[in-house]
Amino acid sequence: MNALLLDAAQRASDYLDSMATRDVVPSPAAVERLKSLDVPLPEHPQDPQMVLRQLDEIGSPATAASTGGRFFGFVIGGALPVSVASNWLTTAWDQNAALHGPTPGVAAFEHAALRWLLEILDLPRDAAGAFVTGATQANLCGLAAARHAVLKNTGWDVEADGLFGAPPITVLVSAEAHPTLFKSLGVLGLGRNRVVRVGTDAQGRMRPELLPAMTGPTILCLQAGNINTGAFDPIGQLCKAAHAAGAWVHVDGAFGLWAAAAPALRHLAPGLAMADSWATDAHKWLNVPYDSGLAFVRDGASLRAAMSVTAAYLPPNPGSRSPSDFTPELSRRARGVDVWAVLSALGRSGVAGMIERCCGHARRFAAGLSEAGFAILNDVVLNQVLVSFGDAEMTRRVITELQADGTCWCGVTEWQGHTAMRISVSSWATTEADVELSLAAMLSVAARCGAQGGAAA
Ligand SMILES: *Cc1c(COP(=O)(O)O)cnc(C)c1O
Repeated sequence: MNALLLDAAQRASDYLDSMATRDVVPSPAAVERLKSLDVPLPEHPQDPQMVLRQLDEIGSPATAASTGGRFFGFVIGGALPVSVASNWLTTAWDQNAALHGPTPGVAAFEHAALRWLLEILDLPRDAAGAFVTGATQANLCGLAAARHAVLKNTGWDVEADGLFGAPPITVLVSAEAHPTLFKSLGVLGLGRNRVVRVGTDAQGRMRPELLPAMTGPTILCLQAGNINTGAFDPIGQLCKAAHAAGAWVHVDGAFGLWAAAAPALRHLAPGLAMADSWATDAHKWLNVPYDSGLAFVRDGASLRAAMSVTAAYLPPNPGSRSPSDFTPELSRRARGVDVWAVLSALGRSGVAGMIERCCGHARRFAAGLSEAGFAILNDVVLNQVLVSFGDAEMTRRVITELQADGTCWCGVTEWQGHTAMRISVSSWATTEADVELSLAAMLSVAARCGAQGGAAA
């Protein structure tokens, strides 16, 4: 047992050391080698150490180096070493984090993490929280609490009686809402398409003057951090209008919510704490391993009513918070322990420094590409940069070539009619040297493709 775990630790450590020098994408040979998995189920037991060796030899080379410093696709984030280590130890504990009673240890760590999160994000200190798999699920939690509350106001018990025959709920979303928000709305029976889309400005921020009059049960979904531009909806202003009409405001802040933890960026989200529920990811910008999303709900009773396995009318017992009263899952791993470990290791200044450093790197990318004559399509207020290398075809060609080059990885996006390369800087591991190396690769690939600096297509 011991030898196996030590072997795994050594292999993991070697893997992470390789990040500095290996290509960001797996080689074609490594991908080809995955075909060796196409064998029948073993008839008999095999040596576990041999199994681990196979996993490392076949699996490790076939990974994307997304935990390294030069992966800038999808707002991925890496995993801080302390969070990888805490993740291993928590896995060894193998606790079921559903209930407080049998597993008081992990419940207490998660409760402490929640308290710190509310502090560092400056959200209402008595808000309820849930440690879930990601922001999609965190949005679902916030919206389930919202659904409960706005229908309760009309005298309807949605958990008991469902949505058939219930008063209709108006759902307002930004025209720029993240695609996963619609998935959460669909799962909750609120419909992917029966939403009202509110128009946005040139940075993708919701325009308050386009907000329709709100009557009856209403949920307004806002965004802290547009997935393309990083821009924030004017949250405080919209909250005032929504609350005057009795509406619930939910904020999808999968990565942008972390701006609240950084003094230099906090100004981007004035009034953030006025909302009713918030969703974010720890596996993105807090740099803990997958899967780690976070939901916060000001009125904890609404989240509890939506998620509790026991009767919704049971009073909350702050002395023994049972996590599963707030999550869609019953049994689950104690993923909040990794959040605790990172917050403990970095502290307030360490988290702020990590977030601000990523934004500085994004500004450097924008400056370097702009100096070379390429159009930056967004105001670089956060960690997101949209760059055009000419017309759509040329931009796509540069992205394809850059991905094949292997120095760094960026994806393609469509932004308000333009095709762009999106650079998301969200890893603790990205250094200035990584940025310069990646920038040089972008410029040389663009030159090789014949891209000329010029206006956006
Ligand atoms: C990533 C993201 C999501 C989905 O988060 P998952 O953790 O992948 O479920 C939702 N909204 C925004 C703005 C995101 O960036």
